[in-house]
Amino acid sequence: MLKKILYTLWILILFVPIFFGLKSGSYPAFVSSMENRTFDIRQNILASSNIKKPNKDIVIIAIDDASYEYILDKYGEWPLRRDMYAKIVDFIEAQKPKSIAFDLMFVKSIKSSNGADKALANIFKKYDNVYTSMNLDSQEEDLRIPAKLPDKLALNIHNESENVDLDYYEYSNCRTILSQIIDATSNIGMINVIRGNDGVLRQMPLFLKYQGKYYPQLGFKVALDALGLKEKKDFVINKKGKLILFDEKQLNMDYDGSAILNWYGPAGTYKNIPLYKVLKASEGKISEKFDFKNKIIYIGATASSLFDIKTVPVDKVYPGVEVQATYVNNILDGNLIQKASNFINILAGAVLVLLTILAVFIIEDMPVALGFSMTVYFGYAILTYYILARYNYWLGIVIPLLFALFAFIVTVIIKYLIKSKDFDRQYKLATTDGLTELYNHRYFQEQMARFCANSKRYNTVFSLIIIDIDHFKQFNDNFGHQSGDAVLRGVAFTLKKNVRATDIVCRYGGEEMSIILPNAGIDEAVCIAEKLRSVVAEKKFKLANNKESNVTISLGVSTYGENDGVEAQNLISSADKRLYNAKNNGRNRVN
Ligand code: GH3
Ligand code: MG
Ligand code: MG
Repeated sequence: MLKKILYTLWILILFVPIFFGLKSGSYPAFVSSMENRTFDIRQNILASSNIKKPNKDIVIIAIDDASYEYILDKYGEWPLRRDMYAKIVDFIEAQKPKSIAFDLMFVKSIKSSNGADKALANIFKKYDNVYTSMNLDSQEEDLRIPAKLPDKLALNIHNESENVDLDYYEYSNCRTILSQIIDATSNIGMINVIRGNDGVLRQMPLFLKYQGKYYPQLGFKVALDALGLKEKKDFVINKKGKLILFDEKQLNMDYDGSAILNWYGPAGTYKNIPLYKVLKASEGKISEKFDFKNKIIYIGATASSLFDIKTVPVDKVYPGVEVQATYVNNILDGNLIQKASNFINILAGAVLVLLTILAVFIIEDMPVALGFSMTVYFGYAILTYYILARYNYWLGIVIPLLFALFAFIVTVIIKYLIKSKDFDRQYKLATTDGLTELYNHRYFQEQMARFCANSKRYNTVFSLIIIDIDHFKQFNDNFGHQSGDAVLRGVAFTLKKNVRATDIVCRYGGEEMSIILPNAGIDEAVCIAEKLRSVVAEKKFKLANNKESNVTISLGVSTYGENDGVEAQNLISSADKRLYNAKNNGRNRVN
């Protein structure tokens, strides 16, 4: 048990550098891209499971392929004239929507007439719930002088969190829109997105830093309006890294100050009305009824030919305007995702590692331990899915599972090391004699049978010597049993030392010993026996009381073959008889 604890400690020590590596720095790139993949898989399951329902109050007026064709046909040009957009707004406003947001940028254009631009700008004056967008970038100043944006577009952010870095995304340039619109409204938000290394859009900025000020995302403004916080200009990010809208409504933020989105379904999740239908209706050409009352209406391109297409976890082809809708949906429902810190992921890994170590050590059967561990890992993956679905918490899968798999491999190796050591010990216990450390009687019998069988099959020869200490009873009587034991050990040691490593020295019983000599004929065996006899006779053995004494041995030799037999029993009784003769002939001799 102590050993197991020590080995377990060893494993943990192995982990220390990895722990520190992860705590101090970033994940290796492949780990985070794998983690992103697991996130996408979870989002796909989530999107198809209907657990998070899309907000029905968000409606998209889509510039789809049909609308694009209709506009080209009807007006002979693209983009749509800006006074037409003004008309559409008037038409929708008649139904009192909550807000109308253009996911379109009305930049200066030679195609647009001054009158049309003015008509659109007037719309922003007329209705305070119409929003439009702008884009920040980091173009060279040579191309475009960075414009100054009016203060009314910026928000004041007070960041109390040490984990959230609001300056992570800082932009040095800006693609401005019509100055008439900027003058007319402060309902302007940014539509920058963030793409992962793999090009997938998983998160969106909340505030974008430009010329030392923070400009909000369009969706953030639209969501604020829907929450009745249109006038709120000051925001606090608390110590826990949550963006406080009001006490009960706090938004999760990622460490780079962005918002990680939940996805409610593939493209087309939100109610899509083709723009051309609204256009026709606004011109009184069709009598189709639309329900715009109290709705958040986003106007943007979904046609793939218009290039506003993103790849998101749940869809390869996803219109930018639906990203905005998803963003607003996330804020309204409080569904922005919190990513677990490295520390938490490592902690989760440590739990899996612990379970793995326990499983491998407790479960005897390896396939069962493997099956159990795999079930635990699979269960963990499912758990992270539910945590994401229920608590919007992105618990890592890759780091914890890498830890666990590593632990599994190391633990299995250690378990086998312990097992093989244990087996060696058990084997030694079963085959040796405790006092003399010679092989025991049982092992001797096994080996005799094996040598007989081998000799029969391969036509080889081997010999057997049986040894008995002379007058040992008397020796015990004279010097005591403890000294007898010491001499017994001494004789055993002397025998072992004076034969070859391949010879098998056993304690036959009591003070009798036996030696199996592989490949030795009768002459060679007698020679060896004689040598052993003289070595023992000349040796002074240490006794228990530090005195020394001599003993002699008598030896009987038999050899596999015609004379002494080919069965173990015959060979043993033959050697026994010879030993008996040696005793009768005066002891301290070979026969
Ligand atoms: P001999 O063989 O020369 O005829 O005389 P012996 O005295 O050795 O005769 P015997 O074989 O009858 O006696 C063996 C004695 O060996 C009996 C026992 O006291 C002693 N003996 C056997 N096993 C052990 C042991 O493990 N330790 C000790 N100290 N003595 C043992
Ligand atoms: Mg005896
Ligand atoms: Mg004896």
